[in-house]
Amino acid sequence: LYRAAGEDRNNSMGANLANDDTLATLARDINAALKPVSATPLVPGASAAGTPVAVTNPADRRERVGEWTGADAATVERALTNAVAAQEGWDRMPAASRALILEHAADQLEKRMPEFMALCVKEAGKSLSASVAEVREAVDFLRYYAMQARKLFGAPEKLPGPTGESNELWLHGRGVFVCISPWNFPLAIYLGQVAAALASGNSVIAKPAEQTTLTAFVATQLLHEAGVPKDVLQFVPGDGATVGAALTRDPRVAGVCFTGSTETAWAINRALAARNAPIAALIAETGGQNALIADSSALPEQLVKDAMTSAFDSAGQRCSAARVLFVQSDIADKVLHMLAGAMDELVVGDPGLLSTDVGPVIDEDARKVLAEHAARMDKEATLIKEVKLPEATAHGCFFAPRAYELKSLSQLTREVFGPVLHVIRYPADQLDQVLADINATGYGLTLGIHSRIDATVEKIARTVKVGNCYVNRNQIGAVVGVQPFGGEGLSGTGPKAGGPHYLLRFASERTVTVNT
Ligand code: GLU
Repeated sequence: LYRAAGEDRNNSMGANLANDDTLATLARDINAALKPVSATPLVPGASAAGTPVAVTNPADRRERVGEWTGADAATVERALTNAVAAQEGWDRMPAASRALILEHAADQLEKRMPEFMALCVKEAGKSLSASVAEVREAVDFLRYYAMQARKLFGAPEKLPGPTGESNELWLHGRGVFVCISPWNFPLAIYLGQVAAALASGNSVIAKPAEQTTLTAFVATQLLHEAGVPKDVLQFVPGDGATVGAALTRDPRVAGVCFTGSTETAWAINRALAARNAPIAALIAETGGQNALIADSSALPEQLVKDAMTSAFDSAGQRCSAARVLFVQSDIADKVLHMLAGAMDELVVGDPGLLSTDVGPVIDEDARKVLAEHAARMDKEATLIKEVKLPEATAHGCFFAPRAYELKSLSQLTREVFGPVLHVIRYPADQLDQVLADINATGYGLTLGIHSRIDATVEKIARTVKVGNCYVNRNQIGAVVGVQPFGGEGLSGTGPKAGGPHYLLRFASERTVTVNT
């Protein structure tokens, strides 16, 4: 995509492929492409140990997708020793050579699209169209960070100075970077984090979310095949409490790139700070309590369509998803009526089928948390609509999409990571209070605005403290290099993924002054 960005957004690979004919072909291809995956740590010199964990399809737990073996303490130690030894050589390599390797990986990923889509569908429960978008985004990240590496790391920046003195700013890798990625973008965020750290001259130890270990394993192999040395990128699967904690308390780690919950980001920050070691860089992309505000000038059809996409795409399992729709009282009845009608049309089921809109949630734990939230909402809020779950969902982790009307935002105490939309009516003269309430959550990831009044749009966009603000469209699916993505406050540290400043946080700067 990035080659096309700025010229014609619709040129993106995703847009070209997301028509039904091509998807139908891909749907056939993914079944042929899927081979059972058996994942192990990829750490040179470490011996395999441990009992394999079985991976099954969240849409149908009877279907086995593969298995993986986690890293033990000795493997983590070996990975750290290897990473320290390998980093300098990788950092000294010209940035253009690192970029070429990442671009080669992008080309291979495009060629192997059905196989990676199959992994997204079968391991993460992503729909076909979401899987296309996922592969596309991963390709974009690889190419975009390669391009940024050439630009930022290619040659030192010349700085001004008096006659007889030359000043230059050099960028180099920080050292060993640990990348801890989430299950909701098992390929795109995994590869995005890893590509950024590698492009900037770091050696990388990657620990993906346990739920999507297989996808990350195959993606790591792809990077190795493309030319990333095996000691420069090591794959260390396992759970956060053992593998993640062992990595983040180690003084040899120079930086951590993390996407996941705000609570885990705090824990990582504390672990890094407690070390008797140089202060590490932490890039954290965390949760949100994302609002969508619609005033009475909004077009109801457009609003409902965008609210549906923002709330229910990917079964609401995006940190960017709309969680609360604030709708001006004057149009609220009409909008709620249309929303309920649109939800009647949602098809929940097997994400490998073209007809499916909403697939499963990631696992039984996620389903339980959502069910507990729904039980509380059933008592404290008014149900607008609950989508019926078809029989065919009985063997998977499905959660029926639903919408509730609330009285106030304070009824939501934490992020609800699934297909639940909350709606709050507000009288026209209470807009300022709505904006204050949204800011008071402390989160600041995405915001949707539906209004045809420029002054209102500007006021809202200036007042609400968020990283990504979308006007008169949906609020998900940020495009690499086009809508740099990431929040502020409790939603993350920045810099934004897929943006021009991202690689700088993975780098150290050296000013070199020469008396000539
Ligand atoms: N970048 C994704 C989007 O714009 C969300 C990433 C996430 O959920 O972590 O929808």
